[in-house]
Amino acid sequence: MNLIIIGAPGSGKGTQAEFIVRDFGVCHISTGNMLREAIKNGTKEGKEAEKLIAEGKLVGDDVIFNMLGKRVLQDDCKNGFLLDGVPRNLAQIDYCEKLGIDCVVYIDVDFNAIIKRLTSRKTCRDCGGTFIDSDCIDNRCPKCHGEVYQRADDTKEVIEKRLKTYTEQTAPVVDYYKNTGKLVKINGNQPIDKVYADINCALKDAQEKAKQC
Ligand code: ADP
Repeated sequence: MNLIIIGAPGSGKGTQAEFIVRDFGVCHISTGNMLREAIKNGTKEGKEAEKLIAEGKLVGDDVIFNMLGKRVLQDDCKNGFLLDGVPRNLAQIDYCEKLGIDCVVYIDVDFNAIIKRLTSRKTCRDCGGTFIDSDCIDNRCPKCHGEVYQRADDTKEVIEKRLKTYTEQTAPVVDYYKNTGKLVKINGNQPIDKVYADINCALKDAQEKAKQC
């Protein structure tokens, strides 16, 4: 099964992606994580992306398509993948649709809750997981003990810009998928396990449908 998880920054996509990967055996492809890796490695793509990310803007489509095109061909994507962070604008829909998408999980969360969540969020340098600040003792990841840090784009000023970019460019992607019958809307204002219970249920239905085709 090939899936997309979509929602505003801080809607919990990364957290829920982990559960989906565990239960549905798909490969998690996060364009944000790939870009942060490129920045860390100082590649040409990373250098180009760093400034745009810090400004809350989108990275160019050509950079995303180039990264994504290589990634989906890798062996671990044979049982399907979960796209997280893409498509983020209308042009990226075409590219993703060519890869064959079965279901789009849309996590809907209030923007006020998002600002609160993201300003208290820490990200692990090693596993890329995201955690609430208070769960990270001595700045260590509660899962793998790697060092955690606050992403440069998780400040109030940049979050507001990212939400603006989301409203202008990514919300139309959600509208597009609403009309395709592939979208399942999940209430992301609930506790993490309840959000996942809803996603799990929706994906089991999608799995049945995919089998019938
Ligand atoms: P979030 O969903 O919390 O904003 P991500 O980790 O998905 O965080 O992305 C971080 C940043 O990386 C985005 O704000 C954007 O600048 C860039 N980015 C990630 N994916 C894409 C994409 N598909 N197209 C363009 N830019 C992207």
